[in-house]
Amino acid sequence: MDEALWNEMDGFIVEKLLPADPVLDAVLAASEAAGLPAISVSAAQGQMLHIFARMMGARRILEIGTLGGYSTLFLARALPEGGTVVTLEADAHHAEVARANFARAGLSDHIDLRVGPAIETLPVLEAEGAGPFDLIFIDADKPSNPAYLDWALRLSRPGTLIVCDNVVRAGRVLDAASTDASVIGIRRTYEIAGAEPRLTATAVQTVGAKGYDGFALLLVE
Ligand code: SAM
Repeated sequence: MDEALWNEMDGFIVEKLLPADPVLDAVLAASEAAGLPAISVSAAQGQMLHIFARMMGARRILEIGTLGGYSTLFLARALPEGGTVVTLEADAHHAEVARANFARAGLSDHIDLRVGPAIETLPVLEAEGAGPFDLIFIDADKPSNPAYLDWALRLSRPGTLIVCDNVVRAGRVLDAASTDASVIGIRRTYEIAGAEPRLTATAVQTVGAKGYDGFALLLVE
């Protein structure tokens, strides 16, 4: 494992392929200045989410886990006219920082930020008839991933793509005897996704600025 090499290669990828982006740089700087942890997706990963959303022509996007809104902005920038990202965040301070970041990016009108534990805001969305969503990004507390996958299926339609971050955790997910609640939640999510006839599923391992991890890609039938 050579994290320095992964980091350097990530820098190369971003330098060669992503346009300079002072707004997103300012978003990361503001999040850091506000004391938020550096656990957002990387720029290259954010661009991947953006490309997924564009490929699908996603108009309705749901994100579980906002933090400072970095990934939210990659998704919101992919929306067609009239599209919306609904993003769920439990931590009021994170939400406040994200709101300022959405304004900084000029995208507040396209982002519906709901503050509270997602397990409470998801039923509200369902009751409002907010679904179905075209793309759902799960990136919050990992022990709740099985519940979030269940909600994602309820709020989806055939053709919805569900993307789930951090499903490798440097290989710790291999440990069937793990007592780590995140590992247990992720392992259970693999079981559910693998047995769910409504899903065509895979997971892709990643290395880079965010270490060794991976994304699950779940396509709803
Ligand atoms: N998606 C963000 C990005 O890439 O920029 C990163 C999200 S960060 C990994 C996870 C976020 O989920 C944190 O801001 C955390 O406060 C939030 N979170 C944790 N538990 C939650 C819950 N039960 N409901 C909603 N959000 C939660």
